[in-house]
Amino acid sequence: MRGTPRLLLRRLALASSLGAGVAAGLLHRPAVCRDAGTSLSLESISARVAALEAISRARPIVATDSAAGGGAELIDGRKIAANIRAEVKAATDVLKQEHGVTPGLAVVLVGARTDSSTYVRMKKRAAAEVGFHSVDKNFDESVSQQQLLDTVRELNADPAVHAILVQLPLPSHIDESKVLEAIDVAKDVDGFSATNIGNMCLRGGKPPLAIPCTPAGCVELLQRSDVAVKGQEVVVVGRSNIVGMPVAHLLQSMDATVTVCHSRTRDLPAHVRRADIVVAAVGAAEMIKGEWLKPGCVVIDVGVNSKPSSTDKRGYVLCGDVDFESAVQVAGKITPVPGGVGPMTIAMLMKNTLNLARHSIRLPRQPLRRQNSKY
Ligand code: NDP
Repeated sequence: MRGTPRLLLRRLALASSLGAGVAAGLLHRPAVCRDAGTSLSLESISARVAALEAISRARPIVATDSAAGGGAELIDGRKIAANIRAEVKAATDVLKQEHGVTPGLAVVLVGARTDSSTYVRMKKRAAAEVGFHSVDKNFDESVSQQQLLDTVRELNADPAVHAILVQLPLPSHIDESKVLEAIDVAKDVDGFSATNIGNMCLRGGKPPLAIPCTPAGCVELLQRSDVAVKGQEVVVVGRSNIVGMPVAHLLQSMDATVTVCHSRTRDLPAHVRRADIVVAAVGAAEMIKGEWLKPGCVVIDVGVNSKPSSTDKRGYVLCGDVDFESAVQVAGKITPVPGGVGPMTIAMLMKNTLNLARHSIRLPRQPLRRQNSKY
């Protein structure tokens, strides 16, 4: 699906969900857009990617009319992400002053995809904001696998680089998994390596060196919104390696009782109705309806989709996996799309980079959880 209008649109949607100068996400997986349908051309989508960042930055988070009449409190991901970046910046200043170490983030970019370039630019902007050393490795589409592997090994050996991120997707002649596996686990800033995922899932034992950014962002949103997790019924809709699976493990480790639903789950609404906390990571526009929700529940909407709009000049608007208009009437707290989970992903990328730099000089990492933290 690479380069198709649907994929580009999804990436466009992600770019525009980021907010507040940095943000967004995942940027790591080519995935099929399950938007609600659009007639945008490939050219118009591509041309707008860069502009979206500025648009989303300028757009304030506002409750809709129904939100005002509803009652759910909005969880402001832009504000929380800005706070996290400010904390990372302060900790980076201390690391520089007291230990002479500047966290270094290397980003490997192949080709000239507009969406990938936009994401990389946002990451670099966030890295500059918090005072990191940035290393850019840019290659033509024709780069060989060996050249990429050599680059990763060179970055593994570079003491000024503490975190390595390979921007996906890579061209089809490259074996993505081989390149990712070449990243030293101590520099695996996405936390996707088998070692980091394994350590995250094991009870006790070693903590992971990095936790996948979007799931970690969900946990931060809950904690910083004073949502109790212990003993709560959590339903995670989606079981992907990058969102659903890790967020379910993280919440279970915080003593929630977690149910993971997926495309083969029978009677999804019945599961969702039991949940004190719903995490939606499906990629299906507005699939989860307000009437499915338990009154007063907390909704974390990871989904970034688009739906046609006759009133928006772009011809579409962004939406989550949850039908915000109906959900806001029932939920106690809810993340908006855009401006909820999206801005957290890059903030957590910054936090992971800081932690890997701290780990490199045997300093404890800044924990994700507030109490009893293995992470
Ligand atoms: P994937 O496509 O990898 O996974 C989707 C999951 O949803 C799968 O587990 C799938 O089940 C499940 N699913 C699909 N259809 C249904 C259904 N009808 N009922 C129940 N479950 C279903 O997506 P990702 O995890 O990568 O992303 C999910 C969403 O989050 C997307 O909208 C994406 O854009 C967004 N996202 C946002 C980020 C951000 O920073 N804001 C970061 C990452 C993702 P099965 O396993 O059975 O196929």
